[in-house]
Amino acid sequence: MGECIFCRIVAGEVPADVVAETSRCLAFRDRNPKAPTHVLVVPVDHVAHAGELGAEHADLLAEMFATARSVAEGDGVAESGYRLVFNVGDDGGNTVAHLHLHVLGGRAMAWPPG
Ligand code: AMP
Ligand code: ZN
Repeated sequence: MGECIFCRIVAGEVPADVVAETSRCLAFRDRNPKAPTHVLVVPVDHVAHAGELGAEHADLLAEMFATARSVAEGDGVAESGYRLVFNVGDDGGNTVAHLHLHVLGGRAMAWPPG
């Protein structure tokens, strides 16, 4: 996993604007934000993408969603609303091969997304 950018952020080898940390996951601000709040919640242990998730990831996923909620609360967008996104594959717009939950808020989101 030496070349995985998010593994390197988790390891502290690449700087990131970390906003939350738990035993299983790390949350940091997206370097190219698409909304006033744009945070990525990633597992500490490498998982490639949401298409590889199974029952064994249940506890991890619960922690990722709880972290996303606390990030939204911390940024003051929990009441106004926010969007949680996993992109999978090329058509889904996935560019980084380490699972990440996008937390987007602070503006109204279009639906369906473009
Ligand atoms: P996705 O397109 O769903 O794979 O999302 C990857 C996201 O990671 C994009 O929104 C990028 O802006 C973001 N990103 C890539 N490298 C970094 C980095 N070093 N620090 C913070 N965000 C990053
Ligand atoms: Zn990784």
